[in-house]
Amino acid sequence: MTWQSPIAPGISWYQATVGERPEYPALDGSTTADIAIVGGGYTGLQAAYTLAKGGVSVVLIEASRIGDGASGRNGGQLGTGQRAYPDELEAELGYERSKALFDLAEHAKKYLLDFAAEHRIDMEFMPGQMNVAHKPGHEKEYRHTAEIAATRYGYPHLRFMDAKETAERLGSSHYHYGVHDSGTGHIHPLKLVVGLARAASAAGAAIHEMTPAIAIRRAGGKTLIDTPKGTITASRVLIATNAYIGNLEPVTAAHVMPIRSFIGATAPLDKFPTVIPGGEAVADSRFVVRYFRKSRDGRLLFGGREAYTADAPRDISAHIRRQIAEIYPELSAIEITHGWGGSVGITMPRKPFVREVMPGVTSIGGYSGHGVMLSNYCGKLYAEMVLGRSSELEYLRDLRIRPFPGGPRLRSPLLFLALTWYALRDRF
Ligand SMILES: Cc1cc2nc3c(=O)[nH]c(=O)nc-3n(C[C@H](O)[C@H](O)[C@H](O)COP(=O)(O)OP(=O)(O)OC[C@H]3O[C@@H](n4cnc5c(N)ncnc54)[C@H](O)[C@@H]3O)c2cc1C
Repeated sequence: MTWQSPIAPGISWYQATVGERPEYPALDGSTTADIAIVGGGYTGLQAAYTLAKGGVSVVLIEASRIGDGASGRNGGQLGTGQRAYPDELEAELGYERSKALFDLAEHAKKYLLDFAAEHRIDMEFMPGQMNVAHKPGHEKEYRHTAEIAATRYGYPHLRFMDAKETAERLGSSHYHYGVHDSGTGHIHPLKLVVGLARAASAAGAAIHEMTPAIAIRRAGGKTLIDTPKGTITASRVLIATNAYIGNLEPVTAAHVMPIRSFIGATAPLDKFPTVIPGGEAVADSRFVVRYFRKSRDGRLLFGGREAYTADAPRDISAHIRRQIAEIYPELSAIEITHGWGGSVGITMPRKPFVREVMPGVTSIGGYSGHGVMLSNYCGKLYAEMVLGRSSELEYLRDLRIRPFPGGPRLRSPLLFLALTWYALRDRF
């Protein structure tokens, strides 16, 4: 039977096309390890892989199945740089730190592509990405972004697109202009996380699915993780639960919050060859970003709708089809074969959260919709830090990430109000 993630709605097109998804046994009894990792997405698994390869004993527990979180259900767009544009980061942090963060993201991109090639993970990489403007009036900023990427950040792959080129490349005149990035691309995210788990397991990491961490506590200079059928005792712990932190650890919960985002896959677009003929991924300038791309078999995978409460929407497909039709009226009756959602972990300033939250316990997440390449690299960098090989993670650790206001009880309602307000502004 097709597997339905218990923590996110809908069966994804990724699930339908991933092929074999190996199972890992639940933890049954207590165990010890140098490092314990909570969360089996890209962050946790990359850390497990690098640590195991470095000769460290590592146990990773996943509450559900590998890939049930954001890593197996996302839009697959790698992007370039951090989520904030380099000039924004430069204004806030100065050129050197902004450049270091840009370079870190380029290292992340290269690492991910090399990793997939080395392990023969066919993650269906397709090149190209476009960021497009849904409102006029910011053309100068778009031109400037492309220009400084080349002149100040050593990245010559971004190019401004005028209205005509934007319309041709998208097959739609819905957008005003944009930038074209030939130095990045998009992937099948579930194939990546399944292949990554295989690589981590082959390197010697012990992986346990269906094993939720119930509590994390300190005793006798060690960290203990309680699970339903045993306790893990470790010298160090990585919390890699991202948007799914729940009540497990309060500092992470105050800094990383979930937004639910939904994606629909259409039937193959064989009869509509003008839709993104170059096969690039697209992300628009709305606050509730619309992100879409064609799959290797010619479907449109379209993400757009967001939800700020835990209620499951009744009909993901109908909403997504309406959004598709605003951009592609000719697709207003297209069949949506799969509709699904997942939780994106966001932080207040929309930058990653990297922090020691208890002695020996590091928490990493909150990539704010820009985590496909960054989460893979952050997991690796955490491991490199433990192994004493690299301190690059410090650039992210040193970012100022404030907690969400409101405390445990008011945090969610306040976030709901703020996001609903910003989402409304997209309409005017
Ligand atoms: C719909 C959607 C679209 C997105 N699109 C893009 C995109 O196009 N580009 C981009 O860069 N980013 C995108 N993202 C974000 C990206 O997917 C994430 O940043 C990235 O996958 C984070 O990986 P992670 O390993 O940190 O977290 P996750 O993959 O979410 O993994 C966390 C894991 O921790 C487990 N867990 C939680 N609590 C416990 C516990 N107590 N015990 C054990 N395990 C636990 C969860 O079950 C989960 O599997 C998108 C996200 C979503 C949801």
